[in-house]
Amino acid sequence: MYKLSDYSSFNKVLLIEDNLADARLVEILLEESELQCEVTNVTTLSDGIKVLKEERFAVILLDLTLPDSKGFYTIEELFSEVPDANVIILTGLASRDIGLKAVKYGAQDFLIKGDFDADELSKALRYSIERNSILTKLEEAQRISHIGNWELDEEDQRFLVSDEIYRIFGFTPKEVRLTVDLVRSMVHPDDFKIIDDFVDQLAQYKEAQQDIRIVREDGTTRHLSVLGKATKNKDEEAQYSGIIQDITERKKAALELIRSQQRYEAIFAQSQDAIYISTPEGDFVNFNPATSRLFGYSPKELKNIKVGHLFKNPEDFKTFTQRVIKTSFVKEYEVELLNKNGETRYCLVTASMLETGDLKGVNAIIRDITGRKQAEELRKAKEIAERSSAMKEKFIASVSHEMRTPMNAILGMSNLIQKDNLDDEQKSYINSIIQSSQHLLGIINDILEISTLEQEGKVQLKYDKIDLHALLKNLKSIYQYKTREKELDLQLIIGDDVEQFVVADQLRLNQILTNLTGNAIKFTEEGHVKIEVQKVKDDEKTTTIKFEIEDSGIGIPEDKLDDIFETFVRVRSSDGKFYPGTGLGLPIAKQLVEMQNGKVEVVSTVGVGSTFNVYITFNKVEEQLEEDQNQELEEEEITLEYTGEINLLLVEDHKLNQIVAKRTIEKEWSNVKISIANNGQESLDILAEKDFDIILMDVQMPVMDGIEATHKIRNEFPEDKAKTPILVMTAHAHMSQNEKYKEYGMDDCVLKPFQPKDLFSKIAYYVNQQKRGKMMEEHGTPNGQLQYIDLSYMDLMTDGEPEMKKMMLELLFDDPIKEIEKMFVLEKEKNWTDLKAVSHKMKSTLAFVGNDTLTKTNKRIELIAKEEAGFEELPELIDTLYDLFKKALIELKAEHARL
Ligand code: ADP
Repeated sequence: MYKLSDYSSFNKVLLIEDNLADARLVEILLEESELQCEVTNVTTLSDGIKVLKEERFAVILLDLTLPDSKGFYTIEELFSEVPDANVIILTGLASRDIGLKAVKYGAQDFLIKGDFDADELSKALRYSIERNSILTKLEEAQRISHIGNWELDEEDQRFLVSDEIYRIFGFTPKEVRLTVDLVRSMVHPDDFKIIDDFVDQLAQYKEAQQDIRIVREDGTTRHLSVLGKATKNKDEEAQYSGIIQDITERKKAALELIRSQQRYEAIFAQSQDAIYISTPEGDFVNFNPATSRLFGYSPKELKNIKVGHLFKNPEDFKTFTQRVIKTSFVKEYEVELLNKNGETRYCLVTASMLETGDLKGVNAIIRDITGRKQAEELRKAKEIAERSSAMKEKFIASVSHEMRTPMNAILGMSNLIQKDNLDDEQKSYINSIIQSSQHLLGIINDILEISTLEQEGKVQLKYDKIDLHALLKNLKSIYQYKTREKELDLQLIIGDDVEQFVVADQLRLNQILTNLTGNAIKFTEEGHVKIEVQKVKDDEKTTTIKFEIEDSGIGIPEDKLDDIFETFVRVRSSDGKFYPGTGLGLPIAKQLVEMQNGKVEVVSTVGVGSTFNVYITFNKVEEQLEEDQNQELEEEEITLEYTGEINLLLVEDHKLNQIVAKRTIEKEWSNVKISIANNGQESLDILAEKDFDIILMDVQMPVMDGIEATHKIRNEFPEDKAKTPILVMTAHAHMSQNEKYKEYGMDDCVLKPFQPKDLFSKIAYYVNQQKRGKMMEEHGTPNGQLQYIDLSYMDLMTDGEPEMKKMMLELLFDDPIKEIEKMFVLEKEKNWTDLKAVSHKMKSTLAFVGNDTLTKTNKRIELIAKEEAGFEELPELIDTLYDLFKKALIELKAEHARL
């Protein structure tokens, strides 16, 4: 005997039957059948549906004629609510056709009321469960494969379909009637023709297959593969059925494949990187346009070339191929390839093995990194250059320091010995030492100069109003001696229209011209050296001047003309010898000219001579001030005014330098008392104990350096001590450039090895200032109303003693005027030697008058007489001296009377 539970996990039967007698009969039969199931009886469809939504039943026995539903629609209604219900229809004999149809539409069976016994009922139940389970499995299979089956119900013009077809069309199973019209309305408009073809084929009893698209209610498009066939039933009527598969995903994948293939082809064609496929032996199978571009071969040529042929080093190709074959993939293999012109291209090759069917090959992408490589090499070179330039700078700075320090001692000691009583031979030795040392110092200075110039921005030009004519005349006078010695004719021609005053960096312009003139004289044994200066262009604001330095010397071979402006280049003369020099003069001159936006040209013929032309555009001087015309060219030459004891603190760690500085200063001024500190710290200790008029400070010292010591003096000492003038003495040329020492609070800078004159003038200047300042503070300004005289110096000298002062004033009444008158005569006689002597003597007299213009005018007269250049200025200068002194004399006499 069978139990319902042998077939289904649900042991219940739902009986939807309004006829109670029929219902009772079914119940009795079920009891008889020994299926041992539970029966629930409802009398309306709606109640049935309600119960089904809450509970699961193994079988539903459904009467088609219910109070709320009649006939075939009853089953349609039930399925639309409970699609997977296992239904057996109960129908009357008259409704047998409906029963049959219901089975077509998804019922498992039908039983004719009153026509079945317990056995038949039990069998129907069991079979329905079996079939339903098979159907469920089939539906599941269809769901997974997205395939559904359909059948056309021609009478109702609708399709009988499996659940999957509902889902494919975007409905829940059995939700709507899939009428022919509904299905047609969902076909994509572009595919109507396909559907018509499909129907035509079926009409001819052919199997038809078409891919069509439908548009679902939610707007999404699905691709369907529709298969159909027509058969005849027993009444010779056509019946249509088939399957539908949703092939959207497959279609998408195919489309994606096409697209990616297209993309790949585009990449292949448009890639900037060369891409190729070759056989493992290196025959090209395919390559893109970039490949022919990279190697410079036409595609036709490339086909006949082996890949290995493009490798610069054949070994590389071997290694590369072996690695690809062995590991299947090689990433960014760096290699040098050769193009058609034989030029090397640096490339990265990424390659993989290709194995499709029987074709075995190498697929490779070549990236040309020549540009990157060059940039990288350039960057490396630049880095090295920068590093070496920094090292060079450091090296030069320290070498200069190391060389200058002993030079200081050599020159200083030699200067001292020179002043002793020496015999002629000793004198000549000492002179040689001094000359050689000065020469060596010149070379050190040149090296320092060029290294500074080569560092952009290190040198800044100082523009000022300068007297160009005076500068040129001075240049000539400097070289007069040398040319006379070599018996050369030295000419200076200044064009009439060349401005006397221009705005320029006097020091640098002088350096350029000195250099070129010096060379001209050096490389000329006979004939002439001519400096010609002409205006070449002019506008409202600027004037362009050409300086032509011509000589009749040895000349320069044409092929060397460009080289001589390079550092350390010197050309052998025709007899194969080098003239003395460093090969730095011209590069320095050229750089200085170019810094002023000018240019240098050279024309030369071996054995005939050379001409160097310098063009510089100067700004014009806006208003030409008459006063101080010659100030720029004057050397500051100040004597120590104060005769009392002067205290100087020398801060220096180098013993030799201590001795040199001490002895040099003491020899010049016996009233200067020198204390020595061996380092910065000692200087602070000594200064704390004693007042000083001036401090000479070295920079590099052990314990505490000069910079720190200066900082402490300026900031940590009482005001009067903190104000003590500090002269920094350093071998570092950089210190003096752009007045860097000022940043450290120092007043001035003396470069070591020092020129005694330079050191003296700076000491004198600051000590005088210091003493005068103190005087002023103590005595006030005595000569407030006086216009032409300032007697503070006299006051200092006489210590305010009136008798003494009167006497000194009287000394000024007659003699000076007489001396000035003498100057007029000497100028007429062109007796420069005596003029110089008179002017020199006048200097100390004028110091007492205290009129700056008088002092400067006299100084200029002395300089002209000494240098023997600029004579034409003399009459005017002596006139000025005379007039001014007369005016001063009136005030001097008035002051005398006041006393
Ligand atoms: P230096 O004169 O110290 O050797 P420069 O840089 O001034 O260095 O000059 C470089 C070289 O150019 C000289 O060594 C010389 O061979 C050549 N030169 C420069 N000026 C002249 C000139 N006026 N006549 C002949 N040769 C010259």
